[in-house]
Amino acid sequence: MTAASTTPSILDRSRADLEAWCAAAGEPAYRAGQIATWLYRQGAGEFAAMRNLPAALREALAAAFAIDLPEVAHVARSHDGTRKLLLRLADGATVESVLIPDEARLTLCVSTQVGCAMGCGFCATATLGLHRHLRRGEIVGQFLVARALVAADLAGSPEGVAPARITNMVFMGMGEPLHNYDGTIGAIETLTADWGVDFSHRRITVSTVGLLPEMRRLLADTRVNLAVSLTAIDQDVRRRIMPVSRKYPVEDLLATCRALPLPRRKRITFEYVLLAGVNDAPTQAKALARALAGIRCKVNLIPFNPFPGAAFGRSDDLAVARFQDALRNAGVHATVRESRGPDIAAACGQLVAEGAARRTPARAAATLPAAAPHAGDGH
Ligand code: SF4
Repeated sequence: MTAASTTPSILDRSRADLEAWCAAAGEPAYRAGQIATWLYRQGAGEFAAMRNLPAALREALAAAFAIDLPEVAHVARSHDGTRKLLLRLADGATVESVLIPDEARLTLCVSTQVGCAMGCGFCATATLGLHRHLRRGEIVGQFLVARALVAADLAGSPEGVAPARITNMVFMGMGEPLHNYDGTIGAIETLTADWGVDFSHRRITVSTVGLLPEMRRLLADTRVNLAVSLTAIDQDVRRRIMPVSRKYPVEDLLATCRALPLPRRKRITFEYVLLAGVNDAPTQAKALARALAGIRCKVNLIPFNPFPGAAFGRSDDLAVARFQDALRNAGVHATVRESRGPDIAAACGQLVAEGAARRTPARAAATLPAAAPHAGDGH
């Protein structure tokens, strides 16, 4: 249900908030647990469905709150099983979530902002600029509607669609999650809490371009996995590709990673978008391996997906293989991220363009590319 009003969304509230509201309404604290169970376990879209609550309480809840689940405006399906969801929020803004099946896994990639302020040169989302942060409930809502979609797919298919449930989550959709720290951390709380979705923190990865204070906070506040979009080891090259490097140079980023109190058996994933002739030489791979010494990590190589107007080209397969070999020969665990949903990537970008165009017609028409490689392809 989408409520385009100013009524607060109950999905933005913590368990403590719900208990406080119940106390103010003269209800016992355990009612907060019942409400949360309906919202996050049962996926209730309206208060009237909360059958074990007194009618007066259901009415009071409906008067005080909306359940602002995003509306699924469109689903694009790839032949490889990837599904990209265009989700319309209560104010009409649109974001994308992506469901990516991979053998026993079904990974949901969520967005944390409408647009993005980080300006990475290899990312179409950057051309949107930042429209706004998503609230806690808008991030959790992406999970709730994706879970319902997966369940509906199963119900509609006698053979079933494996896997049957979302097993992993990555915060790699539109936006820089740590730029929206409060929304991201709130969503992680609701997703992982036993009163909420109860999703394992071990199966959640947050990806950042490297906002150093917030990276430290994230490791202190949660036990989720950390991915860092690195993409260049040379400060001059990275400054050019990723403006965040002007504020947080590569050297400081790596020093911070080295000092992070990683839990045992955890390692940082460094994402590295390979750009032809810019950062894909074997000598750069060797420099990368030297720079990562002493950091428990792996490297995820992502061949660039060009989009119209992009200033970079895609590294060819040979360059990708040579780069990976150079890392491996230097003892770095390096994988190449397979491109998922390539046949719907353009449609995905057009969907974002369509949604954004409704909000800011002139800007969108002038700047939006036909494909947004970021959503679903990660930082
Ligand atoms: S890669 Fe991520 S952080 Fe960089 S502009 Fe795109 S959405 Fe923003």
